[in-house]
Amino acid sequence: MTKACEKWKDQLLEAALTGARPKDLQVHLQSCRDCTTELRDLEALRARQDSMLPLLVKGSQPSTGFRARVPDSSYFTRAVSMSRYFHGCSK
Ligand SMILES: [Zn+2]
Repeated sequence: MTKACEKWKDQLLEAALTGARPKDLQVHLQSCRDCTTELRDLEALRARQDSMLPLLVKGSQPSTGFRARVPDSSYFTRAVSMSRYFHGCSK
């Protein structure tokens, strides 16, 4: 992902979480393979988190490893931190 794509990060996340595809984002995705890949990864992450959510809601214990990696309660923050974790990106 290039510097120019930084500004799309929030929209990519929102698109992945809500399925929304603003026109300007669609235009960018057509010309940017990095962001298209990023969006697909985020959607995969969301699907994974959705499958974990019932466990959390029921109050069963998630693995300590999972908790250590995602200390924040915000859904968005978790998605971002997990994305960074999977991409090995510290920015
Ligand atoms: Zn891009």
